[in-house]
Amino acid sequence: MNILITGANRGIGAALYSAAQSRGDTVYGTARTPGDSDLMPLDVRDPESCTALADRLKETPIDLLVCNAGVYLEKGQPVDSLTDTQLWADTFATNVTGVYLTAMALLPHLKQSNAPKLAIISSQMGSSERAGGQSYIYRSSKAAALNLGRNLAVDLKPQGIPVGIYHPGWVRTDMGTNAASIGTDESAKGLLQRFDALSLVTTGCFEMWNGDAMPF
Ligand code: NDP
Repeated sequence: MNILITGANRGIGAALYSAAQSRGDTVYGTARTPGDSDLMPLDVRDPESCTALADRLKETPIDLLVCNAGVYLEKGQPVDSLTDTQLWADTFATNVTGVYLTAMALLPHLKQSNAPKLAIISSQMGSSERAGGQSYIYRSSKAAALNLGRNLAVDLKPQGIPVGIYHPGWVRTDMGTNAASIGTDESAKGLLQRFDALSLVTTGCFEMWNGDAMPF
């Protein structure tokens, strides 16, 4: 299976990359600054960067696209001081627009696959039913990513492309911090199982890494 993972240079994306590679998948990973790694350059906020990635892949079919790249820029800031509009714009550019731009640029590659799938890493913080207060920018961006995924699921179903939206767990990464409850390997292993289970029957699902349903 050919898998493409955005934000594969660290955190959950890097763990997904290794886990998929070790089970024998052909994995393409992206990074904003790949350096001398095997990763391909991609800034999800930039439509030209997304198109360049698609061009670089030439005719390669992509069986699974994982939109993992994300930011949590306002972490720790009090909710009555989120008046810097650039913070809102930058967060939405990555967590929402970035998902859309990546998915659209790689849609021709997904269509080349016999069994294509699109996975979007949102967060439990994007659940409106489980609104927990605080982190308004990140929460609303992940809610928008969930909503985008739900609508993509409707529009891509007739084209045979299921779309799943996922909470990866609270994971020990730069974003999740060392206080988080699970490691990247556990999250990646669970997510890969969820991606395997994704089908046109379950398209539009919002699930945790362990298979539990997330309330919308
Ligand atoms: P990290 O902060 O550890 O890694 C984020 C990744 O996203 C990095 O590879 C980063 O690249 C990349 N990225 C950020 N902005 C862009 C961009 N504009 N273009 C391309 N790549 C970009 O986060 P995690 O691994 O913890 O999180 C991965 C995903 O899981 C995110 O979507 C996050 O919101 C979500 N999530 C994480 C949770 C957790 O507990 N860790 C909980 C719930 C959801 P660079 O190195 O260049 O910054």
